[in-house]
Amino acid sequence: MELCDGNAMELAGMLRRGEISSREITESVFKRIDEREASVNAFITTTRETAFKQAALADEKFRKGGDLPLLTGIPVAVKDVLCTKGIKTTCGSKILENFVPTYNATAFQKLQDAGAVIVGKANMDEFAMGSSTENSIAGPTRNPNDVTKVAGGSSGGSAAAVCAGESILALGTDTGGSIRQPCAFCGVTGIKPTYGRVSRYGLIAYASSLDQIGAIGKNVSDCAMMLNVISGHDPLDTTSLHVEKPDFLKALSKGIDGVRIGIPQEFFAEGLDPQIKEKVLDAVTLLEKNGAHVIPVNLPHSPYAIGAYYLIATAEASSNLARFDGVKYGYRKSEDDADCLAMYHKTRTTGFGTEVKRRIMLGTYVLSAGYYDAYYLKAQKARTMIKKDFDEAFRKVDCIMTPVSPCLPFALGEKMTDPLQMYLVDIYTVSLNLAGLPGMSLPCGSIDGLPVGLQIIGKPLDEEMVLRAGAAYEQLVEKQI
Ligand code: GLN
Repeated sequence: MELCDGNAMELAGMLRRGEISSREITESVFKRIDEREASVNAFITTTRETAFKQAALADEKFRKGGDLPLLTGIPVAVKDVLCTKGIKTTCGSKILENFVPTYNATAFQKLQDAGAVIVGKANMDEFAMGSSTENSIAGPTRNPNDVTKVAGGSSGGSAAAVCAGESILALGTDTGGSIRQPCAFCGVTGIKPTYGRVSRYGLIAYASSLDQIGAIGKNVSDCAMMLNVISGHDPLDTTSLHVEKPDFLKALSKGIDGVRIGIPQEFFAEGLDPQIKEKVLDAVTLLEKNGAHVIPVNLPHSPYAIGAYYLIATAEASSNLARFDGVKYGYRKSEDDADCLAMYHKTRTTGFGTEVKRRIMLGTYVLSAGYYDAYYLKAQKARTMIKKDFDEAFRKVDCIMTPVSPCLPFALGEKMTDPLQMYLVDIYTVSLNLAGLPGMSLPCGSIDGLPVGLQIIGKPLDEEMVLRAGAAYEQLVEKQI
């Protein structure tokens, strides 16, 4: 096995036992990047020089000995929506093509403080808008399992990097499924924490009430390990929660016995690929055979989730993206600098891509006088009903299991001309963001070589249950093999 194909936990063990160095892991990762990046395109920027410097620092710390954080010396990819001091941060957009932040996003800073090695900035849909990582100035990311297929999105670069061994871990963000869906498509594991669990400081906002940063790794323990580092209150983010931070790794060994798993019938209805349905239900059956209780639940307002999500997300985006006007950041298009309005107009029409402009227009429309009540307010009401459905279901169960995506990874270009088809891919993921709940995607088999994802949903702040159930499933699958 090449080191770049290892998971973070085993590599951390090997580092501690002095069997390998961080330099060797980093070399292995960059060798893989040299081999595969031309076809996968997981990165917008790679940071080879910085990575080797950080690896040398980590090795120095290991030489000195002592109690080091588990992430010390482990390579990490960072989605290009997170500010990285001195490292270009583009959001996959022309409008930020030359933007170099002067500060670090808190989640990234915490990784740096823990001694992680930055491999580069991962490709993404422009401003995290998309489900395939095809809306990027850097071109599409391809699925490492089959390069004719999309990697999912918008954190497609992060998921593909981990899948291909071009990084060991990755930071992603999830506004409506952008961690979980690409993880499902690439066959890796990713967790979107409860809203407020991880600071959003330094995350370039798409839809602030839905955005959340999370962890991507090869398995559940890698996600738990990373969540331990990135979570916690941050005075720089007023929405970050003042709550106790558990040791998420401790949750992994608690088993599945007696855990009540809810199965919402609305998530297994028409529109779901029957082969995916079978794989997900097989996973649930395996857990049931080993002591879990499977209980049907209802989430009756689920049919409104996509509509509510795309109204709220675009409304917030139209406001958040107003700051990109050619004055404050990066790109400016102007033939006549004296005319400020013309400069705004030219900058924004040529700086943003088609999907981003579509969403700014939709969001502006739903917030405008006369339409606000009919669209935005109604969407917010639907959001409340969706949250109440989950509250009701969680009175009876400890976690909920569903598919992540209704379809397998699709061909590049297949859905690019039909935005509605692209939006519908998010049907099983967006409600968690609307309700602020934690959710994880982990592999539960494959169909014709393409991975299938199982989604585990938890109560607010109960990432421990999500991780526990996920780890139990992983262990059972391992035992079967
Ligand atoms: N695919 C969804 C969208 O396009 C979700 C994106 C995300 O989670 N950032 O909005």
